[in-house]
Amino acid sequence: MGSTGDHHVALIAFPFSTHAAPLFSLTTALATAAPSTTFSFINSARSNISLSKAISSVPSGVKIRVYDLSDGCPEGYIMPAHDPEEEVRLFLKVAVVNVRKAIEKAVEGSGGIRVSCIVSDAFIWFAGKMAEEMRVPWVALWTSGTYSLAAHMYTDFLRLKIGENALPSRANEPLDCIPYMSPLQVRELPEGVVFGNLDSVFARLLHRMAEALPSATAVALNTFQGLDPALDNELSKMFKLSLPIGPQHLLTQQPPEPADTYGCIQWLDTHAPATVVYISFGSIMSLSPPEAVEVAEGLEASGIPFIWSMKPAAQAQLPQGFLDRTRGRGMVVSWAPQLQVLGHSAVGAFVTHCGWNSIMESVTAGVPMICRPFIGDQRLNAGVLSRVWKIGVGFEGGVVTRETVEMALTEVLKEEGGRKMKERAGELREMAIRATQSGGSSSDNLDALVEVIRGY
Ligand code: UDP
Repeated sequence: MGSTGDHHVALIAFPFSTHAAPLFSLTTALATAAPSTTFSFINSARSNISLSKAISSVPSGVKIRVYDLSDGCPEGYIMPAHDPEEEVRLFLKVAVVNVRKAIEKAVEGSGGIRVSCIVSDAFIWFAGKMAEEMRVPWVALWTSGTYSLAAHMYTDFLRLKIGENALPSRANEPLDCIPYMSPLQVRELPEGVVFGNLDSVFARLLHRMAEALPSATAVALNTFQGLDPALDNELSKMFKLSLPIGPQHLLTQQPPEPADTYGCIQWLDTHAPATVVYISFGSIMSLSPPEAVEVAEGLEASGIPFIWSMKPAAQAQLPQGFLDRTRGRGMVVSWAPQLQVLGHSAVGAFVTHCGWNSIMESVTAGVPMICRPFIGDQRLNAGVLSRVWKIGVGFEGGVVTRETVEMALTEVLKEEGGRKMKERAGELREMAIRATQSGGSSSDNLDALVEVIRGY
């Protein structure tokens, strides 16, 4: 295949939580680097709406067509509130047929240019089979924590070594059956690997993904070389081509940050370096009401200035009078311009749910983290932050109380341990920046990915 305009890349998103945004920013980067190639981005209508800012800020001359994919919900269907997996189950039930239809539509929309490469979220494991049938390369993008990717890849081995019912008896054992995972513990694995419902929608999906990924032409990862050398080495043996292209938000164009509605940056400007804590649990997770009260009380007791990004419904759970008593010393906002907030010199700590995007953003800002993980890859990410990279801490005993909150804040913002974490975070920040600069490893890997999608 030549380098003319006969290339057509179909990109298939996993249309839930924050998965589609990194795939779209990668699409923009690839389309900018390969202007003669046609790009068709396939995602559910609902998820495409959430990307509308990014879609409308694609530079002119970049050829990306966006297609809606049915999400599998029958018309008028009301999602049961008690079953968060239901929408994923409905989507997956008809996804193969719907993705095929969307690809046909994309070929039609491009004036008949056949698809020459499929790029998908790694969760869309069946894209590999489609690519095989079409005899075209398949590139998978893994958007979550890289240690959790390794855990999913080793699922069969871990089940053999640890069993399929590992909690509570083996919870605190080290994962030393995989040498570079030995600082991490069994209980930190994603649910569905050796405990929890091994037959859940996600557990089955990730197991299929682990079987499929070794046949992918390339697997792109939101990390950077040097962060975890032993893990990099292992992943490069598992996959035909392992391409760390992170931190992705530094390497690829990001949609404009939301307006700073609450004046967070102006407020941070009035604070001394590394004195403020930023708190956010991402786009989905929230603290339980009693935990939110403990955090509020811990913040009050610590006297430390804060910005707390909190979903409006959760704000009602704050203790009575908390907002009045902390006015001037803290801000509770419904959504913060997180990249800018973390990048402000006044922010010295980040209380996080350990979502991978948040972690990469905090690493590139050189900000140590205080971890309150919930599900999926988050526990393993928290273990990596505190025991592998050593730029994070958990709450004492893993419980969020007024006392443990105050202790963690004091340790990170005021004590020697925190100073060391900040120093180490600063080193990782430098490494991340170097990797994404021209000639850096992530930048070179992105170029290599462009070659893959152009068929070289
Ligand atoms: N985010 C933000 N403002 C907020 C809360 C979150 O901009 O007030 C962004 C954050 O910068 C990150 C994303 O939302 O890019 C959260 O992604 P992550 O992977 O950390 O967690 P998820 O939402 O997928 O659980």
